[in-house]
Formats: sequence, C-alpha cells, structure tokens
Amino acid sequence: MPSFVMTEKCDGCKGQERTACMYICPNDLMKLDRDRMKAFNQEPEQCWECYNCVKICPQQAIEVRGYQDFCPLGGNVIPMRGSDSIMWTVKFRNGALKRFKFPIRTTAEGSVDPFKGKPEADFNNVKKPGFFNLTEVRKF
Ligand code: SF4
Ligand code: SF4
Repeated sequence: MPSFVMTEKCDGCKGQERTACMYICPNDLMKLDRDRMKAFNQEPEQCWECYNCVKICPQQAIEVRGYQDFCPLGGNVIPMRGSDSIMWTVKFRNGALKRFKFPIRTTAEGSVDPFKGKPEADFNNVKKPGFFNLTEVRKF
C-alpha cells in the first residue's frame, strides 16, 4: 500500500525548494502543494513501499499502510531515525508493541560519491559488452 502524508504533521519542510521526501523518493512520487505547504504522494499506484520517505521525514508525517495480510486491522510499522540508528516500532492489531533498533550508516546525507575511485566512463565502449568501469572488455 502506498505512502500517505499526515497533513497535520507535515510542515512542507519549511518551504525548501526540494523537500526531504521529494529528495529521497526513487520514483519521484512526492510533491509539495505550495499553497497548503503540505506534501502528497502524487501517484500512489506507482509507490513500491520502500519506506525511504517515511524514514527521512523530519516530522514523522509519512506512513505506509501495511497490507492486510501483513498488518491487518490497525497494525502498523513506524521507523524513527536517529543519528546513528533507526528504531522500528511494530504495532500489532491486538495493540502489542515491539521495537527493533539497528545501527545505520553515518555518512552525511548526499555526501556519497558512487563513482569515487572508478575510471572515467569511455563512451566509445558503450555498445560493447561489459561495464564502463572494467579496465578491459572481456571477450564472450
Ligand atoms: S519530508 Fe515530511 S515534513 Fe517534509 S514535506 Fe515531506 S512529508 Fe512534509
Ligand atoms: S515509499 Fe518509497 S516509492 Fe513510495 S513514495 Fe515513499 S519513497 Fe517513494
């Protein structure tokens, strides 16, 4: 089930050009309604419930509705991010709560360079088999 925004909690990331949920969604689904300063999922049917927006929202304003077979009748799963860990709170339909805490990566947001240490891409090889960062193209 797709993510949804609890509008009473969302502050529109204080009107930044790009909100945290817009920044993180791998599918570009989150959008900010600038009149109301509230974000929303503009194409819920395209949401693959990756929880990225839920985890990054500084106001904890986003939830993903669990599937009926996963957390039926009122159960939910809420992550809360800390600086070095994330706590998942799982609420069962009988009201029982369980919490799971895991360490997380502590590299600063946006600071990872995925191509660091890799050779420059050679576009002459784009139609050849292999990957841009292989030093030699293997013969198959
Ligand atoms: S990240 Fe949270 S607070 Fe910021 S715009 Fe999105 S839903 Fe609202
Ligand atoms: S759960 Fe994932 S795919 Fe769905 S809106 Fe949030 S970030 Fe995008």
